[in-house]
Amino acid sequence: MEMISDIWDGVCAVMKRNGMSQTAFEVWIRPIEPLKIEDGEMVLVVNTDFQRKTLMDMYADKLQEAFREVLGFPLGLRIETKAAVPTPVEVPATPVQGNGYPQFAEGEDYSFENFVVGPSNKFAHAACLSVASKPGGMYNPLFIHGGSGLGKTHLLCAICKEIKKNNPTARILYIKGDTMTNELVEAIQTGSTVEFHAKYRQVDVLMVDDIQFLSGKTSTQIEFFHTFEALHSAGKQIVLTSDRPPKEIATLEERLRSRFEMGLLADIQAPDLETRIAIVLRKAKALDLPLSNEVADYIANQIKSNVRQLEGVVKRMRAQSLLGGEAPTLVAAQNAIRDIRNDNQPVPLTVERIISEVARTMSVRPEDIRSGKRSAPISRARQVAAYAVRHITSLPMENIGDEFGGRDHSSIVYAIQTVEKKMEQDPNFRHLVNDIIKNISDS
Ligand code: ADP
Ligand code: MG
Repeated sequence: MEMISDIWDGVCAVMKRNGMSQTAFEVWIRPIEPLKIEDGEMVLVVNTDFQRKTLMDMYADKLQEAFREVLGFPLGLRIETKAAVPTPVEVPATPVQGNGYPQFAEGEDYSFENFVVGPSNKFAHAACLSVASKPGGMYNPLFIHGGSGLGKTHLLCAICKEIKKNNPTARILYIKGDTMTNELVEAIQTGSTVEFHAKYRQVDVLMVDDIQFLSGKTSTQIEFFHTFEALHSAGKQIVLTSDRPPKEIATLEERLRSRFEMGLLADIQAPDLETRIAIVLRKAKALDLPLSNEVADYIANQIKSNVRQLEGVVKRMRAQSLLGGEAPTLVAAQNAIRDIRNDNQPVPLTVERIISEVARTMSVRPEDIRSGKRSAPISRARQVAAYAVRHITSLPMENIGDEFGGRDHSSIVYAIQTVEKKMEQDPNFRHLVNDIIKNISDS
């Protein structure tokens, strides 16, 4: 018990340090009772369902972030109410396990009805509708690509729901590209590749979200190629998403690339102003926030390229109105936009950024990573940083060495291999590294 309260004190300190206002802290965080850690999840208890829902909507990400900072590894989060029958809520903290439905935070309804269609996404939307109504039909595979936060996962989930509605017994497998890679590594290690094959080849619909994670993963690509062939020739539907088109995925086997391109490629662009306004109004309505057209217009004019951020502004305004009774006026919108911008500094994907993220997560200083210091924590962080740089930027080994104080090519190769080996052996370490990469790639 001692340990949990220590962890919790640390988390509270991080929440405050990360800019949570005193009032918000007192209202939302202070009343939380940290209960236990169970099955890799932190269980928190609050008094009312309203508290629970608000925490899930507004603070789940920040809390998880804080736990990770305190513990050094990610932990799932479950918030329960004191009511007689606790209602656990899952947040997809660790990668979604690939055994069925995409899982999203409660309250999200990623359906076709809730997807706002505009010129930037209407082609992808139509393709998804077609696939949902006739899986294994004309568009196979369907490959959707577009930047982060533009609705790819939303559309996959909508397809899933629609197919399930029409055919409740359909076997649908949704999996993230990186989770699939991890599963395969595990299967190879534990000698359970037969189960792995079976799992992937017995489905009617296979959806792999963020397939760009297969880049550079040779064994996963080989395995996936055979899975793809087996499913495709049996007329099973395959839907893939990526943040870029197949031809821009580095180190993707040629035969996979050509398979990805043989069906339908559909891209999603950043939404235009009208679509953004419609999305803001739609999200506000879903959250019961009375938003005037003028304010919606203002928000949509300010935030242009990421729907996730548009949504973030609306959620923040709702929290403000619940918390301080602040009406959703233009001023409230300005404040919320400023907060969101501060949270999502558009940091370019540079080595700089990677090193600072690794340093933060692994509790060392960025300058140590660039230095020649050899203490174990610093060496480990440096290896992870080298791995992350390679994974994210595909920079040649020589150039990576330059970024780490002129190390030569072979020491970078060694660092990357060491990380790969440890990732195979130690699931916690693997999650840590994948999480760092995901954090950097998402921002
Ligand atoms: P991606 O997978 O492309 O990174 P997501 O599907 O996770 O993006 O979308 C991010 C958020 O934006 C989700 O909450 C989603 O519901 C919302 N969103 C994106 N596009 C739309 C849209 N056209 N209509 C409604 N919501 C959208
Ligand atoms: Mg996504």
